[in-house]
Amino acid sequence: TGLPEDVVIKSLVSQYNQIDSSKVSKFSDLPISQKTLKGLNESKYIKLTDIQKASIPLALQDRDILGAAQTGSGKTLAFLIPILERLYREQWSRIDGIGALVITPTRELAYQIFETLRRIGNHHDFSAGLIIGGKDLKFESKRMDQCNIIICTPGRLLQHMDENPLFDCVTMKVLVLDEADRCLDMGFKETMNAIIANLPPKRQTLLFSATQTKSVQDLARLSLKDPSYVSVNEMT
Ligand code: ADP
Ligand code: MG
Repeated sequence: TGLPEDVVIKSLVSQYNQIDSSKVSKFSDLPISQKTLKGLNESKYIKLTDIQKASIPLALQDRDILGAAQTGSGKTLAFLIPILERLYREQWSRIDGIGALVITPTRELAYQIFETLRRIGNHHDFSAGLIIGGKDLKFESKRMDQCNIIICTPGRLLQHMDENPLFDCVTMKVLVLDEADRCLDMGFKETMNAIIANLPPKRQTLLFSATQTKSVQDLARLSLKDPSYVSVNEMT
């Protein structure tokens, strides 16, 4: 439509607290931007999975989320869509710095998330960066301060925080801890704690984990504020 963007955004936001999850079936049933819808459509994502139905409406309302769902349940879109919509409604642009940070345990997972983001975020004008090591630190550093959305592994992120003066995340709005249980299993507990201590406290955090162990609960206590619990179990 020809409406000014801020009018469109206001209208979308006004619908957030009226979403009836039980009536949401398709992405087009959600109050999300045409840009995101187009990207989803072109990627052949039409209907939401259960974890997406349960978490996206809450995440759009800026709630912190502690999500439990198995591998393959569709967690990637459950956090990428709220990230895109958050930056969209803040009318974020390339010069605004880092808006969202996604931490995932392995390079391979980071790469998959990055590829999904590239496809569904195709019609937005945000810049995205993959920070997983392998390239030299300087090469990554130069680009990092120009990224709006960063997908990274824990060790490499902390290395940038420690060694890269250009790395500044005071602007950050959304933190995603993907596969938190695996991050902890891989020995990243101290690294994750140090990263969280470096981030602005006023932020939204979405934590996803297949299992809810004691150490995941510890991390949740440290990183989440008044979270909504979202659990999707194939057996129920
Ligand atoms: P998880 O992170 O929970 O293991 P993924 O986000 O990687 O799951 O998604 C698993 C698979 O399901 C991927 O191939 C993804 O493209 C596909 N998928 C996710 N959401 C949808 C959806 N709404 N419609 C169709 N396929 C989807
Ligand atoms: Mg995943």
